Amino acid sequence: MSTRVSEPREESAVLNWVPKDLYIAGRWRAASGGGVFAVEDPATGELLVEVADAEPEDGLAALAAAAEAQGEWGAFPSRERGEILRRAYQAILAQAEQLALLMTLEMGKALSESRAEIAYAAEFFRWFSEEAVRIHGRYMVNATGKGRILTMREPVGPCVLVTPWNFPAAMGARKIAPAIAAGCTMVVKPAQQTPLSMLALAKILEQAGLPAGVLNVITAQRAGAVIEPLLKDPRARKLSFTGSTEVGRRLIELSAHQVLRVSMELGGNAPFLVFDDADLDAAIDGAMLAKMRNVGEACTAANRFYVHESLVGEFARRLAERMGALTLGRGTEPGIDVGPLIDEAQRSKVTELVEDAVARGARVLLGAKRVHGRGYFYEPTVLIDVPDGSRLLSEEIFGPVAPIAAFATEDEAITAANRTEYGLVAYLYTRDLDRAFRVCERLHTGMIGLNQGVVSNAAAPFGGVKQSGFGREGGFEGIEEYLETKYVALLGGL
Ligand code: NAP
Repeated sequence: MSTRVSEPREESAVLNWVPKDLYIAGRWRAASGGGVFAVEDPATGELLVEVADAEPEDGLAALAAAAEAQGEWGAFPSRERGEILRRAYQAILAQAEQLALLMTLEMGKALSESRAEIAYAAEFFRWFSEEAVRIHGRYMVNATGKGRILTMREPVGPCVLVTPWNFPAAMGARKIAPAIAAGCTMVVKPAQQTPLSMLALAKILEQAGLPAGVLNVITAQRAGAVIEPLLKDPRARKLSFTGSTEVGRRLIELSAHQVLRVSMELGGNAPFLVFDDADLDAAIDGAMLAKMRNVGEACTAANRFYVHESLVGEFARRLAERMGALTLGRGTEPGIDVGPLIDEAQRSKVTELVEDAVARGARVLLGAKRVHGRGYFYEPTVLIDVPDGSRLLSEEIFGPVAPIAAFATEDEAITAANRTEYGLVAYLYTRDLDRAFRVCERLHTGMIGLNQGVVSNAAAPFGGVKQSGFGREGGFEGIEEYLETKYVALLGGL
């Protein structure tokens, strides 16, 4: 039996340390109805802790606090806003081990992956601490020579931010940090499976000196009942949502009531293209990252592998060998590479998609099985000869399953890659520079990993096209989502 990386007493210390209440107007408090809901460990199915279950009136109280704080916060010196973010960045790094353990407990991924996510989340606080002081307008002489054009940048106003469970800290950090930098106040709702990382971030921001009311966090089991009234309330000015396309679509419709500014980071169905001139070693390394990062539960996860027919056999064999060598287990144990899926619903969906492909004629090279016993484990799986029409190729898998199909020509590969309503990211492996640019230009996605299997970077604009959403998070673009432009016309013969 292996020794645990985290001792039970460390686990209970970190679970005791994290707040379990709602954070509204700078105060931690219970839900108004006194309700709570359970957060469980997906590796065991056991209860970790209970957190406050907000009522619709708690959501409205959080929005009221954000609206109340907006005026003063919008006028707060940008240097001071940046310094709060910088202190939060340092505090996250100082408490990275605790935060990583908390994340693994509630979400399941291996500790090494949680550490990487904490570092990634922290980067958004550092990046936007630097961007806070670079918000500027412009001054232009009118083309007629008379009059002047002046623009001012202003915070959009109170924001509603809704995040998913798959990256419990980073998806929040990508919204909260630019909103703070821009001078917006906010109500944040994390996913019900993983509220703890967000509550921990709120505690860190409170300790970093964020004024009361700027950030309000509500945890809730009935997301729609709590969030939808906020979207219809004139005090809210913006919605930023990361989650499924299905829920995103509904929230876009609801945002029409108040004509909210909207940013949408939705589902993906990333193609991973390997051309005949690719460096196969690099392609296998990239495929492991693009497929197995976060147990495949990433919007950026490679969902479909299209490999040139001359390489497909070797690619599939080597990928199956690497994926088959991974160790499954509770993410807190040493030497674990792959944790459980988030819950039984997710595992059932993965099982169904694999069964559908196999029934249509796909061949199993590896896995294709649930792991019996506690927790929601599913074996790393490689399928080849996956026929067109298989649901695996058109739906987001969100699990450790790699479907592989062969292609003969560049055109065929591009057509297959674009054959989806999603457009978040694509990966492509080739050593031919002309081909690289040609293919990049023809892929209908917001991001491309060119000879690399990960694109996430706080300094880069993350986001999709088509039904993967609109708006960008991170990079110079990230803060724009939280700023309005006001134009002042100066008349006269200046
Ligand atoms: P989800 O079911 O759409 O939920 C996302 C969030 O929306 C959760 O906080 C959820 O709350 C909340 N929600 C659900 N129904 C709502 C409603 N009617 N009104 C307001 N909020 C509502 O997605 P998920 O299963 O958590 O996450 C997986 C999805 O996120 C995948 O499709 C993935 O591709 C996408 N994702 C996209 C990106 C990107 O950047 N493009 C990044 C990460 C994930 P509850 O938890 O209470 O249901």
